Amino acid sequence: MGHNVLYIEDNSDNMMLVRRVIQSGGHNLVEARTGLEGLAVAESQDIDLILLDINLPDIDGYEVARRLRSSKKESLANAPIMVLTANAMRGDAERALDAGCDIYMSKPINIFELLEKVSALLSRVAQGNDL
Ligand code: MN
Repeated sequence: MGHNVLYIEDNSDNMMLVRRVIQSGGHNLVEARTGLEGLAVAESQDIDLILLDINLPDIDGYEVARRLRSSKKESLANAPIMVLTANAMRGDAERALDAGCDIYMSKPINIFELLEKVSALLSRVAQGNDL
C-alpha cells in the first residue's frame, strides 16, 4: 500500500532522517546522491513523489526539476516535487517553483511538517488528481 518516494540528497544525515520519517509513514524511500543518479532512478522506477535537495555534487536541484518536468514519462513529468534546502534566501522558493517544483521546505527539516506535507501530496497522487 505504501508509495515510492525518491529522495535526491548528498547529505547522509538528512538522508537517514528522511528515511526514518518516510518509513514511519508506511512508504518506501528510494535514495539517490547526485542529480544525475536521481534522474536515472526516476526514469527506471515507479516513483510517486520526489524530495529534492538543491545543492548537489553535479547538476543542481533546479536543473533536476526542469529535467523531471520535461520527461517523456508522463507519470514522472507530473509527479509532485518537494524541495528541501538550506537555501532559504529570498527568491529561492520562487526559483524552485519556476523550475517546476510544487512545494518548498527549508532545512533544518521539521519531521512533523515533512510527514504532513508528504501525506498530503501522496493522497492527491492516490486520487489521481493533477497538481
Ligand atoms: Mn546538498
